[in-house]
Amino acid sequence: MSVEPRASIVWDYAPSPEATDHLRLSERYGLFIDGAFCEPAQARYEPTINPATEETITEVAWAGPQDVQRAIETARAAQPRWAALPDRERGKYLFRIARLIQERARELAVVETLDGGKPLRESRDVDIPLAAAHFFHYAGWADKLRYGMVARDVAALGVVGQIVPWNFPLLMAAWKLAPALACGNTAILKPAETTPLTALLLAEICQEAELPAGVVSILPGDGAVGAALVRSPGLDKIAFTGSTAVGREIQTELAGRGVELTLELGGKSANIVFEDAALDQAVEGIVNGIFFNQGHVCCAGSRLLIQESVHDELIAKLWTRMGRLRIGDPLDKNTDVGAINSAEQLERIETLVAAGEEEGATRRSVACSLPERGYWFAPTLFTEVSPAHRIAEEEIFGPVVSVLSFRTQAEAIEKANNSRYGLAAGIWTDKGAKAFEVAAALRAGVVWQNTYNHFDPTAAFGGYKESGFGREGGSAGLRPYLKVVR
Ligand code: NAP
Ligand code: MG
Repeated sequence: MSVEPRASIVWDYAPSPEATDHLRLSERYGLFIDGAFCEPAQARYEPTINPATEETITEVAWAGPQDVQRAIETARAAQPRWAALPDRERGKYLFRIARLIQERARELAVVETLDGGKPLRESRDVDIPLAAAHFFHYAGWADKLRYGMVARDVAALGVVGQIVPWNFPLLMAAWKLAPALACGNTAILKPAETTPLTALLLAEICQEAELPAGVVSILPGDGAVGAALVRSPGLDKIAFTGSTAVGREIQTELAGRGVELTLELGGKSANIVFEDAALDQAVEGIVNGIFFNQGHVCCAGSRLLIQESVHDELIAKLWTRMGRLRIGDPLDKNTDVGAINSAEQLERIETLVAAGEEEGATRRSVACSLPERGYWFAPTLFTEVSPAHRIAEEEIFGPVVSVLSFRTQAEAIEKANNSRYGLAAGIWTDKGAKAFEVAAALRAGVVWQNTYNHFDPTAAFGGYKESGFGREGGSAGLRPYLKVVR
């Protein structure tokens, strides 16, 4: 028998917007090359907008091929001296960067939210603290590289090009830069077109930390800048996080050139709920798995697999819980679901959701009033989904969950693995042995048990199959930035 929740208490949240008057953003940001902000060779500047209001925040330089070349030259010139520093000294720079991120945490969180549309609660409590944690973690590795590599003698690869997406702009920059620098590489980072600002603030932080010139360059721009970086001679490695389609292009471009590559790509991760799970706890995990960051998460639990015996009960609980999500102003500290990152991404979500309806799945979207300007999508639940539907196969990268059901453990494993991706999975069960058995049978880089979207700099993250290769985080995250010498 179910007990009625105490929903009769009528109250609401008062607005709780985070202030923005403490920000000191420049009217224009140049490229960051050779330790200084500079004009792009072709003098091209583009606005970066707030997707919650469509207002311009500031202007940012876009790099061209000449700028890419200059960045590579300065990175090449700086690399031998950077690698030759005593390991502990290199580590100290990373410690300084981590401390400066902490010092400027509030500003970074607000800018991340303005530029990308994610709720402040997330940028403040997840993105920025984790970015600092990654620098702290790899600062500690800088003088212990051998121990991370089973006591072999290792050396830096040289100059690395790093391309990141817009869903976790500063955090992805930290995932890329911290291990690369700890290992003695110099790096050129290309932030995403829609979210360049926190990477540029990180450039200021590199200056404040007195990082030697040329060790880090930051080149904002569109996909063409990323492509120019990939095509340029003079790089020893490319590290890419983004879509499988672009990852494939990069791999083709680099084939036979002797340039190392790691790819962190898309996913369609299964979140599996067994009948013996604590269902209320599972509901929180499902919500966190798919509505965190509007579902713009590569490892989002976008395929919800529910054991048939608890299917209806769990869907009822989930739907009730979804009705309580607060959607709106990302700067409001009470907001759960913010703005969709761009008009382009909103269109992609709408197309796939329309396909779900056309193919016969049952759609429910939370009834909520959405702001008039900006890009928004109400949290959405699809039931009666068949494994062949596009919404069961393709990455939506939005606040949309597709529900499938299963009867037995074997069927759960088969359905979970029936994907061209293999990034992450969640298992909800009260039985430890079952969790381990299922986890061992899943082809997924990360498997969470009774939790979801839990990140830690000490844990390796990465995919199988079309989700890419190479690992970031922990000692495994050193390997892609080192070569074994002896
Ligand atoms: P995307 O289009 O592949 O873009 C990723 C980055 O690559 C951006 O900086 C982009 O620049 C740049 N880029 C675009 N075309 C390029 C080209 N031809 N050559 C080189 N670089 C190019 O991906 P997205 O749509 O921005 O991001 C969403 C995807 O990233 C999803 O599929 C998601 O699953 C994946 N992702 C994976 C992980 C992971 O760790 N596995 C983490 C986060 C996201 P522009 O911004 O200018 O287009
Ligand atoms: Mg933006």
